[in-house]
Amino acid sequence: MYTCAHCNILACDEEHPGKLPANCPMRKTGLMNTALETYTLPENRDFYITASELEALGYCQWPRIKETILLCQKMGYTRVGLAFCKGLRKEARIVDDLLRRAGLEVVSVICKTGGIDKECVGIAPDRKVAPGSFESMCNPIAQAMLLNEQNTQFNIALGLCVGHDSMFYKYSEALVTTLVAKDRVTGHNPAAAIYCADSYFKKRIL
Ligand code: SF4
Repeated sequence: MYTCAHCNILACDEEHPGKLPANCPMRKTGLMNTALETYTLPENRDFYITASELEALGYCQWPRIKETILLCQKMGYTRVGLAFCKGLRKEARIVDDLLRRAGLEVVSVICKTGGIDKECVGIAPDRKVAPGSFESMCNPIAQAMLLNEQNTQFNIALGLCVGHDSMFYKYSEALVTTLVAKDRVTGHNPAAAIYCADSYFKKRIL
């Protein structure tokens, strides 16, 4: 089992690493070579290099929205998908406008598309946010399928719920980047709860 999160050696960040930890994943040379070769596949090569060069170009200068726009432009995408949460529809419109001003065609689909009650997929009536009432289910599979049908070249996830985002990633045919990770209690800044895991959020996480 790999435990990089608890490693203090960080040999992976050295040009000439010394002794590797006993369970260091870098000991899996076959797997590491396969991963490296995978970057050379036509569907990965340009994308990976472009994303990595972008990281260096705007390092600590550009916000993620700008990096997202530049990634699209540098990859030559002209048509992108925006899968967004109803709770962030105001932000979705702003992002849509920014993408359009950057010369991109934008296909946007809201999470509630379909208008199907949560109970239709087996969610218990008493497990709704407002038990007993009609509640439109989030529909990440439809969001992905609709963007697939619209032939978007790249998709942007904006504020999809935990787990719903996973299903969107699974069914999207185009690569996906997450512009906003939903976190209702931190203004969509999940890192805030992590920074404060030993203090203000101590009793609200575990
Ligand atoms: S890859 Fe190896 S050296 Fe790097 S953090 Fe993981 S265990 Fe440590």
